[in-house]
Amino acid sequence: MHALTRRQWLRTAASGAAALALAPAAARAADAPGFTLPPLPYGYAALEPSIDARTMEIHHDKHHKAYVDNLNKALAKYPDLLKTPIDDLMRQLDKLPVNAATRTAVRNNGGGHANHSAFWVWMGPHAGGEPAGQLGAAIRQAFGDFAKFRAQFKDAAMKRFGSGWAWLVAADGKLEIASSANQDTPLSKGQTPLLGIDVWEHAYYLKYQNKRDSYVDAWWNVVNWKAVAEGYGKRA
Ligand code: MN
Repeated sequence: MHALTRRQWLRTAASGAAALALAPAAARAADAPGFTLPPLPYGYAALEPSIDARTMEIHHDKHHKAYVDNLNKALAKYPDLLKTPIDDLMRQLDKLPVNAATRTAVRNNGGGHANHSAFWVWMGPHAGGEPAGQLGAAIRQAFGDFAKFRAQFKDAAMKRFGSGWAWLVAADGKLEIASSANQDTPLSKGQTPLLGIDVWEHAYYLKYQNKRDSYVDAWWNVVNWKAVAEGYGKRA
């Protein structure tokens, strides 16, 4: 270790002080308003064999993260909107005080953030089966029986051309099957999404390739009806 000249020492000390002075600012930046990627509530491999670990990792860490990052970028000039809960933001999509390009960015990336945040929770390990309680009764009342509900939901998932979602929604106090293109969320139509399946190819292509049909069939094994029933209990 060589001795520093006084000038070198001063320069080193000054840059150290500058770094210390920056530390609080960096801490503030981490706390700044903005949307954050929620952690997966289980491991990447927890939904095997229905959904493979690699798909879960890319889907959450890359696709969902990109929606969050792009939403924060799109709303960088709107600190109030960055503090709005994502579901509330998407409910107000048509009324947001933003220009057309920003609204489109919120529609796509905010929708992606809202949809995926719910999607992870609607799935889980040791899941599947049929819904019980009030939700089970409401599904039977609306669709006849669980098998008919499943068939109608799958039909919506299969008929969604290209990228999108199929949904079970609460609309005007009734349960309905719906589907949407891209990352459009039922929230923006005044509906409450109770359960949704992502039918973008990124959700299944590594394991199922073109067989969306097999993916939808396997997906029922990972539906966390307990979480879906909690959402039903809290529906707007
Ligand atoms: Mn997705």
